[in-house]
Amino acid sequence: MARRPLIAGNWKMNGLLADGLAANLTGLMKGKPDWPFEMAVCPPFTLLQHVGKAIGDSAIALGAQNCHTKESGAHTGDISPVMLKELGCTYVILGHSERRTDHGEKDSLVKAKAMAAHKAGLKTIVCIGETEAERDAGKTLTVNQTQIKGSVPEGSSAATLVIAYEPVWAIGTGRTPTNPEIQEVHAFIRKELAAVIGSEAAGVRILYGGSMKPGNAREIMALADVDGGLIGGASLKAEDFWAIAQSCP
Ligand code: PEP
Repeated sequence: MARRPLIAGNWKMNGLLADGLAANLTGLMKGKPDWPFEMAVCPPFTLLQHVGKAIGDSAIALGAQNCHTKESGAHTGDISPVMLKELGCTYVILGHSERRTDHGEKDSLVKAKAMAAHKAGLKTIVCIGETEAERDAGKTLTVNQTQIKGSVPEGSSAATLVIAYEPVWAIGTGRTPTNPEIQEVHAFIRKELAAVIGSEAAGVRILYGGSMKPGNAREIMALADVDGGLIGGASLKAEDFWAIAQSCP
């Protein structure tokens, strides 16, 4: 099944109005609407509206980095998926390892958020990945299997779900697994996904994330079960982000 690669930028807790990153990005991409890949930027909540305006009707989609399980209510400091949808978001990143670590998010919560996001009409980028200790203990596949089973809602489809495989030890470190290791985990994830959502798994985009850069993007994205990237640090430089996108096969 043909899968259109997705290049998504996770700005994390970076970006101020003055940075002009969104404007730089759209400036680079003007007049290039027929990309064979899809692009999304996921700025912090504070910049969603601003970035949404900057990307305007370009072919770049807007995404958020988290959402609550409820549509509204007494949840001080939280943002609902309905609010994100209203702001023009197409995507929301869920279960990023930094949320799992910093906020103790468990698979069951990630799944509940994904269900709420799908109900609100958002597409989800559900993140999974093993820590270095888990990899060293030979648990890479079982950890990712558990996270897939626990975090992905049964009713998800290729149209609503994207998986990001992000080895925790590769995020922001400059280290990556070898290409055969990445392909092995991605193929395994697709197989495990089929146990949860059936034949839809064949069409789900599985992104690689963790120190992807212009220098390694081409070889990683050429792997059979890699369908794009979730990019952290390198998405903060418009030229690098665009260079990674252009590395799509
Ligand atoms: C991320 O945090 O999603 C990520 C992939 O970060 P980096 O590209 O900086 O490793």
